[in-house]
Amino acid sequence: MISRRSLMTLAAAAVTAPLAPRRLWAGNTLTLGGMQIDTLSDGFLTLPGSFLLDGAPPEATDILTRYGISTDQMTPPCNVTLLRDADRVVLFDVGAGHDFMPSAGKLAEAFDTLGITPEDITHVLFTHGHPDHLWGLLDEFDDPIFPNAEFVMGQAEFDYWTDPETVNTIGAARTTFAVGAARRLGVIADQIRLIADGDEVLPGIAAHLTPGHTPGHIAYELRAGSEGVLIAGDAIGNHHIAFERPDWHSGSDQDAETAAATRLRLLDRLASEQMPLIGFHLPGGGIGRAERADGTYRFVES
Ligand SMILES: [Zn+2]
Repeated sequence: MISRRSLMTLAAAAVTAPLAPRRLWAGNTLTLGGMQIDTLSDGFLTLPGSFLLDGAPPEATDILTRYGISTDQMTPPCNVTLLRDADRVVLFDVGAGHDFMPSAGKLAEAFDTLGITPEDITHVLFTHGHPDHLWGLLDEFDDPIFPNAEFVMGQAEFDYWTDPETVNTIGAARTTFAVGAARRLGVIADQIRLIADGDEVLPGIAAHLTPGHTPGHIAYELRAGSEGVLIAGDAIGNHHIAFERPDWHSGSDQDAETAAATRLRLLDRLASEQMPLIGFHLPGGGIGRAERADGTYRFVES
């Protein structure tokens, strides 16, 4: 019998082993019309299993076991999407930055490897205001890291995180999320464009309000003719429980009921249209497809 303690040691060893096949900088790549789309690794999160399992049925543990995922400690990858075409360099979320957790905030390494600099970024489109997506906005001196970028966020998301009441209503486990988001959004408040469901944010990029994980979460649909790609953010937050039982509640979602409805709607559309998706915390750089399987779904990496 393996004790809980030795399992945790094993998990820690897997995370720190220098030869672990974890892609440090680049996730995956695809092209859509004239758009070059790369996913860049910001590292990974280190979370207790309860982060996901709180509120889920006990059977959720069985799914994790089948996928070989420890319920003591989870290490989901973080995939920031970069879109380049003739005249734009667009970043979808900015990663966790230097002060969220040691295993994340590695985006600068990915930039170096690709030979791009923060000054090259023309637009930053946020999916939502959680730390692993937003906190990479500022450097150690609280200066914006992307000096030439226009920032874009859903109106409802911005309103939620800049509401002084949010720190009191969000719950004890997430008060640092509220304080951290309000501080960072305050710095760029004059440079941010707020968008609504259905807006064409930039040519070929449409916003879809996909609430539940956060109140104003936005997924972005890239389109070139009949071809599309959905940047799903955290609306589909993992490749196991979220695909096998999208209807189950997840502890990672702020409004679990609404998040489940959003997930079901997105997966139905993605599978029906066979549209590729990019998930911020999905494996293999986050790019793949949702396929129907036995009345539910599975994630197929591409
Ligand atoms: Zn996230």
